[in-house]
Amino acid sequence: MSDCLFCGIVDGRIDATVVAQDERTLAFMDIRPITPGHLLVIPRRHGDRLAALDPEDGAQLFRVGQRAAAALYASSLRCEGVNLFLADGEVAGQEVFHVHLHVIPRFAGDGFGLRFPPDYEVVGRDELERSAAAVREAWS
Ligand SMILES: [Zn+2]
Repeated sequence: MSDCLFCGIVDGRIDATVVAQDERTLAFMDIRPITPGHLLVIPRRHGDRLAALDPEDGAQLFRVGQRAAAALYASSLRCEGVNLFLADGEVAGQEVFHVHLHVIPRFAGDGFGLRFPPDYEVVGRDELERSAAAVREAWS
C-alpha cells in the first residue's frame, strides 16, 4: 500500500475536506491555507511529478482549477484574484510528491507573493533564442 498522503485521501484512508470530485480528480481544502478558500486539485491516479502524469489527468487538473477559481470568485470568501500554482520538484517547492495544483484566492494585502531574483530583468533576443533552441531541441 502506498504511503502517499494524497493517495490516502483518494482512498479515503485520510480525511480531507472535499469540495468537488470527478472520475479523474479530487478538489479539497489545503489544511494550511495561504488564504481562506485555498484549494488543492489532485489527479486520482498517482503521479509523483508532471512527467509521470497522464496528459488527460493534467488537462482535467487545469479544467477543475479553472472551475475552482470561478467558484472562489462567486463565493462569499474574499477573492479579488487567484493564483494557480503547481510546484514540480523539490527546488520548485514541491513537498508532497503526488502532483497537485494549488488554487489560491488573493486579495490586496494578503501577504503572499512570489520573490524574484535580484538580477531579474528583460534580456536580449540572443539570450531568448539560445534558451528557445535548448527547449526546441528537447521538445519532442
Ligand atoms: Zn499519491
